[in-house]
Amino acid sequence: MDFRIGQGYDVHKLAAGLPMWLGGVLVPSENGFVAHSDGDVAIHALCDALLGALALGDIGKLFPDTSDEWKGADSKELLRIVMKKVRECGWEVSNVDITVALQAPKIGPLVPQMCEALASVMNVDKSRISIKATTAERLGFVGRGEGCECWAVALLHKIPAL
Ligand code: MG
Repeated sequence: MDFRIGQGYDVHKLAAGLPMWLGGVLVPSENGFVAHSDGDVAIHALCDALLGALALGDIGKLFPDTSDEWKGADSKELLRIVMKKVRECGWEVSNVDITVALQAPKIGPLVPQMCEALASVMNVDKSRISIKATTAERLGFVGRGEGCECWAVALLHKIPAL
C-alpha cells in the first residue's frame, strides 16, 4: 500500500474583541485571532499537513493573504477545497493528529466538538481525527497569551485504481 505523510504548522496572534474560530468551532473567548481569514490556526496547520503530503506547496500559495477572495474566509471552506485536491489526486485520509498550544481559554471540553466539525468537513470518520490541547506553562508568546501555535500531521493512503 502506498502512503504519504505531511506535517503542518501555523501560528496566529491573539487580540481582544475578535471571534476565536478553532478546529472549526467558535470558542467562547474574550480574545480571537488576528488574520486575513477567520484565523483558524488548527485548520490552517491541518491544510498544510494535507498539502505537504501531496507535495502541493502550502496554504499561503493556494489561498494568498493578498487576495480579497480569501479575506475573512471560513477556514472550513479552505479545508473543503484542500480535501477535494486530496481526493482528486487519488488519496484518502488515514488519520490526522493536531496539537494546539493555547494558554487560555481551556479548550479541552470543546475538543470532541472540534473533531466532529473537522470530520464532517473532511467527510471522514471522526475516529480518524485527533486534536490535543496543551498550554505552554506560561512560557513564551503562547504562555503570555499573545498567540496560539498549532502542529498537525496527516497520513494519506492511495485509493487503488478500479
Ligand atoms: Mg494561518
